[in-house]
Formats: sequence, C-alpha cells, structure tokens
Amino acid sequence: MTSTEQWTERFVEVIARASTQLAPDVVAALQRGRAEEEEGSLARKALDTILANVDLARDKWQPICQDTGTPLVWIHHPVGMSTRMLSQAFTEAVKVATSRQLLRPNAVDPLLDRNTGHGAAPGIPTVHCEEWDEDAVEVRMLLKGGGCENVGAQYSLPNPALKADRNLEGVKRCILDAIYRAQGKGCAPGIIGACFGGDRGSGYLESKRQLLRRLDDRNPLPELDAMEQEILAKANQLGIGPMGFGGKTTVLGVKIGYLGRLPASYFVSVSYMCWANRRAAARFSPDGGVQWLD
Ligand code: SF4
Repeated sequence: MTSTEQWTERFVEVIARASTQLAPDVVAALQRGRAEEEEGSLARKALDTILANVDLARDKWQPICQDTGTPLVWIHHPVGMSTRMLSQAFTEAVKVATSRQLLRPNAVDPLLDRNTGHGAAPGIPTVHCEEWDEDAVEVRMLLKGGGCENVGAQYSLPNPALKADRNLEGVKRCILDAIYRAQGKGCAPGIIGACFGGDRGSGYLESKRQLLRRLDDRNPLPELDAMEQEILAKANQLGIGPMGFGGKTTVLGVKIGYLGRLPASYFVSVSYMCWANRRAAARFSPDGGVQWLD
C-alpha cells in the first residue's frame, strides 16, 4: 500500500510540472498569437517576452511567474481510498514544493494578517476528491494566479445594463463583458472558464474546473461549442491585446460549462486565467507507474 509520504512526493512532482512547464497547447496558442501581431508592436514584444520566460522556466524547472498562484486540485480515486489521506498528502506536497522553491510562500492568513510561510492556509490548497470505478488515481491541478482571480466576475441574470436575459445570448453578453472590463488586467492574453447556472459557489467552482481543459479541445455540446468559438472570435476583436497593449490576442481560449439552477436564480460565473495557465495532470496506476496527461 502506498503511504501518505509517497503520495506527498508524487503530488510534489505534479506541482513542479504545473509551476514550471507550461502545457504545449498553451505555448502553441501564445506562438499563434505572436504570429498574428504586427512586427514591432508592443503586443508582439509582450508575447516575445512571455515566450522567452516560458522557455527559461521550462529549461531551469523554475516557476513561470513570481506569483505561483493558488493550488486547486481534483483527484479521482478508487473506491475506499481515504480522501482525508489524499487531502493531507496534497497539502503537505504544497508545503514541500514551497520549501523547494517550486512555489512561492503564497498563503496569507487574513485573521492574523500574516503570510504562513509554507504555502498552506485555511482553504489553501483547495482539494476536491471523488471516487470512481477505476483502480488508478488521476490528479488534475491548476495554479490560479491572484491578478487574474481579481478580474473574475459573477453576474445575476437578467442584467438590464447588459440587456442580458436568462438565455444563452444573455450568458454570452456577460462573458464578453467580463473580458471587456478586465482590459488586459490579470495578464492577458487570458483563458476564460465560465459556468452558467449553479449557485454562487458551485458556479465559480465549475468555471474553474473548465480551465482544466486543453485549449484545442472542442466542447462536445454543439450549443456550447458555438458559444465558445463565437466569444473567442469577438473577444479578439476588442483590441485589448496582450497585457492591454492593444492587438489581436486578448483571449487564448474560452471554455464553458453549466449546472442546474433554482428557478429564482440564474448566475453566470466567469473565471479569468492569465496566460500562465499552469495546469498539470497525471494518472498513477496501482503498480506505481505514472502517466502524464494533457
Ligand atoms: S495574473 Fe498570472 S501571469 Fe499575472 S502575475 Fe498573476 S500569476 Fe503571474
């Protein structure tokens, strides 16, 4: 049986990958954006700097950004495995990764108004465990930056100011409004995770879970796929550009999910992820093997 300490070490490896190795689909999207921007423009220079930084971080296995973000993890595990053990192991892994400078000491206790110094605090990291029928453990995590978290937004429909009713057109208006209001803050080009429905808590959580998706995947639901493509195209016509310098690369991807809602409520929750879309995923088999996932 694998011990808590062994799980901690495995999770440290996942965190190291998330913090230092930007996923190939995100790098490819940044490169495509760079090619779209005019030579000599601030937009192209910003993307050049971002891409050079991504290369350096990858080669040196050092954090991609000085803000190493909030760790969020979703773990699928076999029936009967202790979720308490997995949560403890992941929290310990955050502390170990912080001590190895794979993460910055990034957790503040707001009651004491003090940085805890080890990367963990009440609610940090956020660990979601779910049983499944397989015998492997699958881990999918994000490091969600603070600047981009600040420009997330939640809407309650109907919203007269946006002329947004309780329908898919209203949802689109809210998501585009959130991108417009960000104006490049939160380190554009961003990646949008959105959810319509749910309550205020579950909606935001699902919007973040959408950020686990590859940028080049397509939503299996045709209505949502069409929305994702339309919002992506419209967002990139806003002229906001990388870091708000102007240009065609405002958003690299849009991912939308939905949840059931009460008749009285219709929320649209938008999580904005910066270009440093640090995600990592791995599957650990019972024989100790590890398979890195996209
Ligand atoms: S928003 Fe993202 S890229 Fe910008 S400082 Fe924060 S973590 Fe870094």
